[in-house]
Amino acid sequence: MKTLTIDHIGVAVKSIKEAKRIYQDILGLKITEVEEIAEQKVKVAFIPVGESEVELLESTSPDGPVAKFIESRGEGLQHIAFRVENVDSALQELKDKGVRLIDQTPRKGAGGAKIAFIHPKETGGVLIELTERE
Ligand code: ZN
Repeated sequence: MKTLTIDHIGVAVKSIKEAKRIYQDILGLKITEVEEIAEQKVKVAFIPVGESEVELLESTSPDGPVAKFIESRGEGLQHIAFRVENVDSALQELKDKGVRLIDQTPRKGAGGAKIAFIHPKETGGVLIELTERE
């Protein structure tokens, strides 16, 4: 699998608006876009930092995965996303190696990226997302 860079780091927040205070007003970064991913019950906002980004995730529903994450672990680091050259071949390679996946096939992420998650039981508790961008 060809892993190119850390694409982004996902941070679960209760409120993107509240998070702006620290990231924008205090750290001086810029939130470029807020996008709703209806099927994930989440709103995301990206904050570019050099080559990578911070992705803020706010749940849009109490039964969404981000709401459940915050309920059990509190706000904070939720996942790390590696940019890969080809997410389909990366998934195939992981399947061939017997690695447990959350997504058997890629799905559509924010900004039109192709993404897939590896099961955190396989990665020492770190939720890893693979991201392919055009
Ligand atoms: Zn992500």
